[in-house]
Amino acid sequence: MLGPAAIKQHAAGLGFDLCGIAPAQAFPELGFLQTWLARGYAGEMDYMEKSAHVRADIRHFLPSARSVIVTGTIYNTQPGTGSRPPGAGRDTIKVARYARGQDYHKVIEDRLLALLEWMRSQTADRFDAAHFVDKHQVQERVYAQHAGLGWIGKNSCVINNEQGSWMVLAGVATSLALEPDGPAVDQCGSCTLCIDACPTAAIVDAREVDATKCISYLTIETEREIPEHQRPLIGQHAWGCDICQDVCPWNLASSLTTDPAWQGPIRDGLSAAELWAHTDDELHERIKGSAMTFVPLSRFRRNLAVVIGNSGDRSLAEVLNRPGHGVRNSARSALTPAVQDAIAWAKDRLA
Ligand code: SF4
Ligand code: SF4
Repeated sequence: MLGPAAIKQHAAGLGFDLCGIAPAQAFPELGFLQTWLARGYAGEMDYMEKSAHVRADIRHFLPSARSVIVTGTIYNTQPGTGSRPPGAGRDTIKVARYARGQDYHKVIEDRLLALLEWMRSQTADRFDAAHFVDKHQVQERVYAQHAGLGWIGKNSCVINNEQGSWMVLAGVATSLALEPDGPAVDQCGSCTLCIDACPTAAIVDAREVDATKCISYLTIETEREIPEHQRPLIGQHAWGCDICQDVCPWNLASSLTTDPAWQGPIRDGLSAAELWAHTDDELHERIKGSAMTFVPLSRFRRNLAVVIGNSGDRSLAEVLNRPGHGVRNSARSALTPAVQDAIAWAKDRLA
């Protein structure tokens, strides 16, 4: 029989570390999106405003939805915090853990489709279903909380009290009426470690992140120049930021995964100068297959210039003087105005 227990068991077999069921309701937490947008925290992410109506209630995503199957997949392969390896150069880049393995959009989507196919094979009854993984218009963290996967921490990540927060949330909305799990209970308590550790003061209040200040937004979401006053704060972050998860006590003993999908090739800890010297085609080759290819290459190139500028290593200024070699591309040059601006800034900073 197609019930929650069988679905969870099959999901585990497909590689999902957590699985729970939430009712398809308009939970109060979903309403914060409008406040967040009104405060201008979305910055250039116009798609958030355009899709706010759909995100307000999963029944706008799938009108017949009665249940939401939410999965959590651990992607962390590194024990401890994300500090630089000893002996590494000052231009050593940091890449957020989720982006170090294969592109989770593709991996998780394939697994969700496999789950759905199996569900359809288990019943003669017709039912509607629609899957979601990050790029779809669903506030998955709210449904994850109500499916019992974890609570929404003050850093806005969903935290499971056994597995931590290094996980991709995804799931399936369905017209099937499945017995829901209870919601997870908030266990942040009086802790403010993530708020205190954020280098750009992007966590303006508990569960309230001003994306326009967040290093993840600045290095990935915006195509433009990174505001000058924020560049030194970015430090060695070439792609995203994990600081507010690194400091979270619930991640001290968080799970590590041996799933081959998340094992690399290692993209964290490389030399920004070495990567910079690549042509665009070569640079693309280094990040191919990862979620880092989800946005134009110029953003990574821009971030590398900022990391080099932040390195304090004057000998690296010379690398930036070779744009003819560094940014050649037969198809489409990544030498955008934002990259050129970052080159000039980095050279000034190192001079
Ligand atoms: S990801 Fe980094 S910059 Fe963004 S809120 Fe967390 S600590 Fe702050
Ligand atoms: S660091 Fe503390 S406040 Fe922040 S999410 Fe973790 S437990 Fe909650």
